[in-house]
Amino acid sequence: MEKITVADARKVEAIGKQVLLQGWVRTRRDSKGGFSFIELNDGSCQGNVQIVAPGELANYESEIKKIPTGASIAVEGEVKASPAKGQPTEVQATSVRVLGGADSETYPLQKKGHSYEFLRTIAHLRPRTNTFGAIARLRNQVCKSIHDFFQEQGFLYIHTPIITASDCEGAGELFRVSTIDPEKPARTETGAIDYTKDFFHKPAFLTVSGQLQVESFACSMGKVYTFGPTFRAENSNTPRHLAEFWMIEPEMAFYELTDNMDLAEAFLKRIIKDALERCDEDLRFFQERVDKEVFTRLKTVLEKPFLRVSYTEAVDILLKSGQTWEFPVAWGNDLQSEHERFLTEKHFKNPVILYNYPRTLKPFYMKVNDDGRTVRAMDVLVPGVGEIIGGSQREERLDVVESRMKEQGLNPEGYQWYLDLRRYGTVPHAGFGLGLERTILFLSGMANIRDVIPFPRTPGSAEF
Ligand code: ATP
Ligand code: MN
Repeated sequence: MEKITVADARKVEAIGKQVLLQGWVRTRRDSKGGFSFIELNDGSCQGNVQIVAPGELANYESEIKKIPTGASIAVEGEVKASPAKGQPTEVQATSVRVLGGADSETYPLQKKGHSYEFLRTIAHLRPRTNTFGAIARLRNQVCKSIHDFFQEQGFLYIHTPIITASDCEGAGELFRVSTIDPEKPARTETGAIDYTKDFFHKPAFLTVSGQLQVESFACSMGKVYTFGPTFRAENSNTPRHLAEFWMIEPEMAFYELTDNMDLAEAFLKRIIKDALERCDEDLRFFQERVDKEVFTRLKTVLEKPFLRVSYTEAVDILLKSGQTWEFPVAWGNDLQSEHERFLTEKHFKNPVILYNYPRTLKPFYMKVNDDGRTVRAMDVLVPGVGEIIGGSQREERLDVVESRMKEQGLNPEGYQWYLDLRRYGTVPHAGFGLGLERTILFLSGMANIRDVIPFPRTPGSAEF
């Protein structure tokens, strides 16, 4: 008796094996011939395996005939070639044991399809649906590809802190980490809250990015990456923003902006290629049920070189496009999702890397170009999502980075350790951040970022 997964039981190689299978019942029906068909799933793949439970089994009338959707069972039996269409194998059961029942009056996942909105209210059970099982497997594969890609190229995986006292973006979208009692906080003589009495003896926050810290390892080990959760208290109720999301941030010494672009393109292509090769069944599910463009989009992005267009050129294109915009287009304005999606989906119909943004739009750590007006920033835009990567060549000149901090109202005193990287052995370096959930949106065609992370955290919602 071999304990196997549904995925393995569905393969022809399993035919003839005596096996033990354990999982959750998707459906069960009686057949005229006096036996039951059970569709069993254990999360190992999109498909179910069909269990044929004969009427002769001792618990057939008392238990098997009453097994409801959602129950957990253990099945012993032999894998056989299936006479039915669409499934290579089935399992002829010699024993079916019910591990846990599921009250069909209250079990929320009955056979009918449910809206994604409803499924968010039962996020603890939604991984038992086809869609969320597929998302979980796809996320897993993408994470594996991320590590494979960097490890094969000699990058070191660095763990950057989750709690930090520096605000990487200077955008003030920070969650405070504090043990101060909000009812009776310690106060200074002037009546302000006294953070020197707080846990870290100063204000502390959840990180918005591991970049600043990972730069210190790039500027000693060469090629590194960090990959972890990041937190943004931005009140953006959009289908593309979460308050807690996962970000992959490579950082490379001796890389300039074009090297950074080359890496970002190769990295995204590797993720797509692996997903096409290793998540075929799940991608076919998304193609059929979620977004008819999945395969065309992925194959186009894989095959075409990413276009490289300066911010200034992009603004010209948008101004000449004849479109009406919700947010006005002008040199110096930030590009909004509507502009980014127009460029990648309508105008170029291709992934686009926009670069050289106005210095006023971008954080202090981006390298200032010789024109003085722009910085070596790059955003990668892809059809279906818009911005998926943000990155830059970093400013390696001590005096420039210091004056950029002041220009943005930041006190260089708080960043002495970061400035030391420019003080001692400074080198050109560059890096970027890829949002994991935006990547899953892109691969799956799912419309809402809340549906591609196990337990979404958004303004007003931190359930489960
Ligand atoms: P946006 O303009 O879409 O808010 P951003 O410019 O704030 O993005 P960066 O700070 O450059 O984004 O972060 C790098 C990447 O992290 C983005 O390209 C995106 O893929 C992802 N990302 C950023 N903010 C979020 C968020 N709130 N939820 C999910 N992913 C995000
Ligand atoms: Mn943002």
